[in-house]
Amino acid sequence: MNAYDRGTPRWSIDDVLARTDLANLLDELGQPSGRLGPNRRWHCPVSGHEDHRASVSMYRDHHGHERWRCWSGDHRGDAIDLVTITSNRDRTEAVDWLATRAGMIPDRPFPPIQPKPAPERALPATVMAPVVERYVRLCASVLRGPQGAPVREWLHNRGINDDTIHANQIGADPSRAVLRRERGLPYGAAIAATFPALNPAGRVTYVQARYLDPDATGRKYDNPAAALAPHPRLAFPVTTTAAYSAQLLVCEGLPDAVIAAQAGFAAVAILGAQTPDESVAARIASHATERDLAVTLVCDPDAAGRRVAEALCPLLRAHDIEPRVLTPPNGLDLNDWALTEPDWPHQLPTVHRESVARPGLGDEATIEL
Ligand SMILES: [Zn+2]
Repeated sequence: MNAYDRGTPRWSIDDVLARTDLANLLDELGQPSGRLGPNRRWHCPVSGHEDHRASVSMYRDHHGHERWRCWSGDHRGDAIDLVTITSNRDRTEAVDWLATRAGMIPDRPFPPIQPKPAPERALPATVMAPVVERYVRLCASVLRGPQGAPVREWLHNRGINDDTIHANQIGADPSRAVLRRERGLPYGAAIAATFPALNPAGRVTYVQARYLDPDATGRKYDNPAAALAPHPRLAFPVTTTAAYSAQLLVCEGLPDAVIAAQAGFAAVAILGAQTPDESVAARIASHATERDLAVTLVCDPDAAGRRVAEALCPLLRAHDIEPRVLTPPNGLDLNDWALTEPDWPHQLPTVHRESVARPGLGDEATIEL
């Protein structure tokens, strides 16, 4: 018994699924995260599920059938479910659509079955493709025009000023309905602010599109596909003001790091959901050591923020860096803290190369050694 029983059976589901590459279909109908390889992930295709971290992975069931599963929302299914979830087709129509997509034509021999698995059709890029840089430049120019107005307002409301916007090549993606794009660029489900990831030399290495309304899009960020740009894991926003202190603020995400840079700090953003590892720690350590900067981790007041600190602190100590951990007060992230407390840089402890807790901070900010 299967869904065909409701209509005229034309295709066997097995014939169709055998000619459907689920990873390929997830790329087409879902939103891939940057990662390639056996642990590929996609954002959840179920509308209304905002998985900030890409939570869909693929597996084979005991029949050898490819299936996907969303680990944070417990959504799951096969290729047919994916089509019904992402379109308004019912199961029969979904099977039909997949059959057509697979090149199956009634009363003709079926196309050959491609061997599986073929998880990595596109090799991960080792350098960013020029199309990503074009996207960054285009979005920066959109931000300056009338279609950029909502993004400008959103950035200003977050306390990000025009000098910082310009220096960091921040832009506006007006959505794919307005701006057509090559496959693999941020999807453009709706209007988004674009935050390029710069390397220490100020060159664009990557970009993240931050949707203005994550509730409507079901996710907060979209990234380029790994085939277009390697995930840099770290980004170094440009400071436009005189150095405030000899401190490197390590922040979760670009919006916070941009705020730190705007206040005159050397800043680095940790990008993505992956827990910082040795290579991330080594890059932060060498960045700080070369510039003789003390290191302060600015951690979100949540479990993820604590995990970042717990992972990174011992790794930095192995590089003879004793990081401070700063959690903004009242459950705020740095962005919100800076908005409610414009004087926030002065509430950070004064810098010594040795970590010294500043007494009298009270509950304004939590400093842990
Ligand atoms: Zn889900």
